[in-house]
Amino acid sequence: MRRLITLLLLLLLLSGCAAPAPEPPPPPEPELEEPQEPEPPPAPVREPYEIKDPTQERQGYVPWTGVVEHLFFHPVIAYPELAFDGDTQENGLDDYMLTAGEYKKILASLYEKDYVLVDINSVWSQEEGEDGPHMVRNTLCLPEGKKPLVLSFDDTNYYPYMLENGFAHKLIIGEDLKIASWGRDPAGNEVVSRDLDAIPILDKFVEEHPDFSPFGAKGCLSLTGYEGILGYRTQTDTQTWDGAKEANRQKEREAVLPIVEELRRTGWTFGSHTWGHIRLGDGNQERIEADTRRWLDEVGSLVGETAILFYPHGERPDGNDWTKTGPAFKYLQSQGFRVFCSVGVESFSFIKKDICAVICDRLHPDGTTLRRHRDQYLQFYDAKDIIDLEARPEREVLWPEE
Ligand SMILES: [Zn+2]
Repeated sequence: MRRLITLLLLLLLLSGCAAPAPEPPPPPEPELEEPQEPEPPPAPVREPYEIKDPTQERQGYVPWTGVVEHLFFHPVIAYPELAFDGDTQENGLDDYMLTAGEYKKILASLYEKDYVLVDINSVWSQEEGEDGPHMVRNTLCLPEGKKPLVLSFDDTNYYPYMLENGFAHKLIIGEDLKIASWGRDPAGNEVVSRDLDAIPILDKFVEEHPDFSPFGAKGCLSLTGYEGILGYRTQTDTQTWDGAKEANRQKEREAVLPIVEELRRTGWTFGSHTWGHIRLGDGNQERIEADTRRWLDEVGSLVGETAILFYPHGERPDGNDWTKTGPAFKYLQSQGFRVFCSVGVESFSFIKKDICAVICDRLHPDGTTLRRHRDQYLQFYDAKDIIDLEARPEREVLWPEE
């Protein structure tokens, strides 16, 4: 019997029909403590932003027939210790600039004094008349008790000289998808902030005080082109140029476009400050035309059409005479500009009769007027409460006796 079984087994083995050995059971899963992945934060979304037409009648809003005030600023000083460090730039920065802290105080005062922001583009319009197009003043409808205020910001180009002097280096889109500034603190560390540059500071102020901008307006950015725009080096250079420089320029152009788009979406508009920050009063027509073409080509192509021109140095075309409509003014008007802004002691404006254009003056909150013209600005703020004499160099302050 045993022999038979052995034989059978042998036969089975030889015929290759042996049942396969059962698979060993899989090893138990190692019971490792998996590190708990933190829930990723929800992806930031752009907050919706509404821009409304201030010329529309609305319940509780009343027509405004008075002056539309206009203030202009330069980029603000993020780090006064770098601006006011005794170098050759110090006095110029003291004259023409504000610190971020002073600027914040000015915004708070404007808000308290019942000013509300309107876009310069909504103050006048072009109308067709029997003898051709002309400009007309629009009727703004404002919340009762409020006064209209236009803000503009000159030279928001972040020129290289500013970068060593305590200003932001460029605008960027932060992780929260909002406009922020990028720069370096005095120790050289990179800083992304919404508290160190005039543009994000105003954005934030309007977020916190939406009734400061009932129509969603912010300010008009007055751009030159010779050192790019908004901190991006989008300019050409007539001295030396090669393929690598052009490739870099195209990269900068691409990088600035989303910034421009986000600024526009959130109430900012753009105007020309000429490509080369040139003097328009000297009658050099050829230079003015070449400069304008270059601005339209290098800056207008990025920010879109604009009807606003801000005179560099406040100097008016054709001999700096506002009553004149000379060849330079006519040429600039033919290039699409309708509102021509200078600098003055009040928010003067005048609709020209002989050409479709408006001229206007802007007031200038800065070191000079804080130190010397307190009375002219009292309707906006009291310079005594604003000026940061500890941060600024020791220079004269001329306040009238109380
Ligand atoms: Zn300027």
